[in-house]
Amino acid sequence: MESEMLTESHMQSNFNTLLIHGGIDGDERTGAVSVPIYQTSTYRQIELGQHKGYEYSRTGNPTREALEALINQLEGGEAGFAFASGMAAITAVLLLLKSGDRVIISNNVYGGTFRVLDKVFKNFGLEYEIADTSNIDEVESKVVPGVAAVIVESPANPLLTITDIGKVAGIARKNRALTIVDNTFMTPYLQRPLELGADIVIHSATKYLGGHSDVIAGLVVVKDSETAARLKFLQNATGGVLPPFDSWLLLRGIKTLAVRLDRHIENSRHVVDFLKNHEGVTKIYYPGLEVSEGYEIHKKQAYGPGAMISFVLSEDYDIKLFFKNVSLITLGESLGGVESLVSHPASMTHASIPYEIRQKVGIVDNLIRLSVGIEDKEAIINDLGNAFNKAKRK
Ligand SMILES: *Cc1c(COP(=O)(O)O)cnc(C)c1O
Repeated sequence: MESEMLTESHMQSNFNTLLIHGGIDGDERTGAVSVPIYQTSTYRQIELGQHKGYEYSRTGNPTREALEALINQLEGGEAGFAFASGMAAITAVLLLLKSGDRVIISNNVYGGTFRVLDKVFKNFGLEYEIADTSNIDEVESKVVPGVAAVIVESPANPLLTITDIGKVAGIARKNRALTIVDNTFMTPYLQRPLELGADIVIHSATKYLGGHSDVIAGLVVVKDSETAARLKFLQNATGGVLPPFDSWLLLRGIKTLAVRLDRHIENSRHVVDFLKNHEGVTKIYYPGLEVSEGYEIHKKQAYGPGAMISFVLSEDYDIKLFFKNVSLITLGESLGGVESLVSHPASMTHASIPYEIRQKVGIVDNLIRLSVGIEDKEAIINDLGNAFNKAKRK
């Protein structure tokens, strides 16, 4: 009954209302419509052994709780958890595993996810293997009994590679492995992995959920009560919690998630149309392009294409000059903010991947990644056009 209600309340028709009024709405005591920032470390106890539900803010804080309840409701899970960064969230989830366990990760997971597995968890006996999760045959052959978890992103960075989340989750479940989805690029407005069969959803809330490039945060939602209890324990035991003010910034950001993403996507469609017709572009990666690989799978499992676009600049253009001449669009790492950002995966986010492998998977030196913001679309396109003109080799 309970889970049935959750599914119902997650139908798209209701989602905009949930963004505004979901979780814990306002403040019971004063009637404040905005959840107060409970900037406190500790709480007065009534008498020995009796308190009002809060003892210490690492363990529980009302502002953080409001955020945790909200993200849980948006993703349709059992419980939500807020962490000090996306990486703190991923780390806490990996702590659910133990020495000797093996995880399968997509070949294009976020660099930090690979790094923490390779440089930190490996030292504690957690093993990992890389798989092309967009290839279901490969998932079938690698997710076998003994594998503890599969970690996927769809669309994945920077080529917007699509993985069939439902199929991967089905294979994982058959082998008693957890399916963990990093849903940062989509947010629950556009994709809800738990409804597709995943067990755990992770967000770098630093990106679209926060949406204003002013907070570093991570969120996790889990589907069953046992995992929820274990993660609650780990959150308190290891302590990478999101502070009250940052929790409030996220509550504030999430209220406008739908309107922001609608505009992000509208702008992206125009930018893609512009890029498609530009002689300076030899290839475009965008899940909303019908010709793109994985288009049908993405359409089936998500409510929209998102606003991340990657494209390859023609050899007739100088990439350095291109980056030098964007002006409205900011050259920088990160994504998902209201402002348009552009980056160079080969030298920035994916520099740690050896050159040969980068070539093989398509992260070529002329690849440009664009996080389309919500400025006037004409202004974004003008800025790109100007950068193309200045970058054209004579
Ligand atoms: C940014 C990012 C992370 C890491 O999150 P932080 O908030 O920077 O720690 C994880 N996964 C994806 C897909 C990201 O884009």
